[in-house]
Amino acid sequence: MINMEHLYRKYSDYLKEKYGEKVYKLPINLPVTCPNRDGVAGCGGCTFCGDEGAGFENLSNLIPVSEQIHKNKAYISKKYKARKFIAYFQNFSNTYMPFDTFKDVMEQAAKEDIVQLAISTRPDCIREEYLQFLLELKNKYNIDIAIELGLQTVNCHSLIKINRGHTLAEFIDAVLRIKKYGFEICAHLILNLPWDTRIDVIESAKILSALSIDQVKLHSLYIVENTVMGEQFKNKEFNMISLEEYKRRVIDFLEYLSPHIVVQRLIGRAPEENTLFVNWNTSWWKIRDEIEAEMRANNHYQGRLCNYLNGKSVRHFFEH
Ligand code: SF4
Repeated sequence: MINMEHLYRKYSDYLKEKYGEKVYKLPINLPVTCPNRDGVAGCGGCTFCGDEGAGFENLSNLIPVSEQIHKNKAYISKKYKARKFIAYFQNFSNTYMPFDTFKDVMEQAAKEDIVQLAISTRPDCIREEYLQFLLELKNKYNIDIAIELGLQTVNCHSLIKINRGHTLAEFIDAVLRIKKYGFEICAHLILNLPWDTRIDVIESAKILSALSIDQVKLHSLYIVENTVMGEQFKNKEFNMISLEEYKRRVIDFLEYLSPHIVVQRLIGRAPEENTLFVNWNTSWWKIRDEIEAEMRANNHYQGRLCNYLNGKSVRHFFEH
């Protein structure tokens, strides 16, 4: 139950409830690309995307999957005495590869103390054959499947501006397809895209709630050297919102978000190397703590304003 005490539904709490103990993510880096970089959906990629995609902390993608798992597990087990793990395919689009390759890498990961495969991808890379195979894997190894979909914003004008190569429609299509298989879905959003406003942020929360998404991961935009957005930033073609405004947007987002949705994080992390802008030069955990303190001080909590679903205007006929 979310209330003033809990503020929002935290991922770590959810994992503990589901698996009975702490569970750790093991990042896996595959030698894959993305259809928005190789010309299939677009060229050049999203305007903010650097050469490493999202996985700047990963091992080399030349190391076989089983070995990456082994190495990461050895490190994390020793450091945290961990016993259960999520194999996390994080970088680029991890369903964008030939079907046989996909089957091979997923099967390599679905072993031993792995309780879940978390697969990051784009909404335009969701295909029935791949989902059907994941369902077989789930049943064969008694393992959970979570698909992490990059959406970034529900504002299709902003999606076009950042050269995303898909709009909201592809996201909805992917969600409806994945839901038929019963896998969990996590949506990734950037709450401070330059062309988005507070209204877009609230609409994002409402759409994810209406679609009954399971989890959400919030990012703050960071700007990398040698990207289109990096050049626009240097040429002052847009302004970044202030840290205060970012915090306000996160709180607005959470208040409109369904209390059932698990929140993986409130702000992203980024490498400082080759970065022109990242988190207002403030550490991510300090920003997180400030957001939580502000929520506590002003009676804000997840779902407080989530009153717009299930025939809002007819509700008064039932309220006696
Ligand atoms: S979809 Fe992801 S990997 Fe592909 S260009 Fe955009 S940010 Fe980069």
